Amino acid sequence: MAIVETEALVLRTYNFGEADKIVVCLTQSAGLIRAVARGCRKLKSKFGASLEPFTLIRLHYYEKENRELVSLRQTEILKSHFNLASDASVVNGLAYLGDLLIEFSPPHQANDLLFRMSTACLDAISKHPEDLQSVLRYFEVWILKIEGFMPDLKRCGECHRAFTSDEAVYMGSDLGLRCGSCSDGRGGTMSKRLHAHIRTTEKLSPEKFAEDAREVPTKTKRELAELTHQMIGRVLERLPRVRPTFVQ
Ligand SMILES: [Zn+2]
Repeated sequence: MAIVETEALVLRTYNFGEADKIVVCLTQSAGLIRAVARGCRKLKSKFGASLEPFTLIRLHYYEKENRELVSLRQTEILKSHFNLASDASVVNGLAYLGDLLIEFSPPHQANDLLFRMSTACLDAISKHPEDLQSVLRYFEVWILKIEGFMPDLKRCGECHRAFTSDEAVYMGSDLGLRCGSCSDGRGGTMSKRLHAHIRTTEKLSPEKFAEDAREVPTKTKRELAELTHQMIGRVLERLPRVRPTFVQ
């Protein structure tokens, strides 16, 4: 039995058995894990408030070979976000972010970039809860990109020519981006403003992106929300829907 120590973001918990909970978290060194926290619903639990969703913790867990479910041994709060718990729209937004992480990240596969991007988004929301929607768009674009579903934003997927800043870009039903001549007018066009807005996610931190987005017209922000919504919907249709079951 191996003991693993890592930082983790608590995403979701649910009751398990008489006094236990299952904790779903994104860890830095092992990706998405499901851990059982024994006795954590008892009054004096050693886990205290560390398992509240969106708490950044350091945790130790036991790992058994061929077992999907690991066993939590010890936790320590690194950063709690209790300040966000009173705002219903933020709580909903964070739950959505957690759902995307659970849907998109394969279990037990470390992804340092995904971990750092997620914690940076959480910090940005914690600092400026009013920027929630912009940070969520940033998160959507990046999780699509990290998991390999975001088309190249810089060049035409067909002829590989770099897009200029003032040409129309077309998105096909395969979610690929093409120049005017390669698309042959097929697919929806992406407005120049949207193309520019989405490309700033590549250069900026979530906090800076959200700051920048305050000057972006509402219409463009709505276009981005529609685009990511559409892309996520199509990707989730393709992902395997069967989740491992927990056998004790
Ligand atoms: Zn082309």
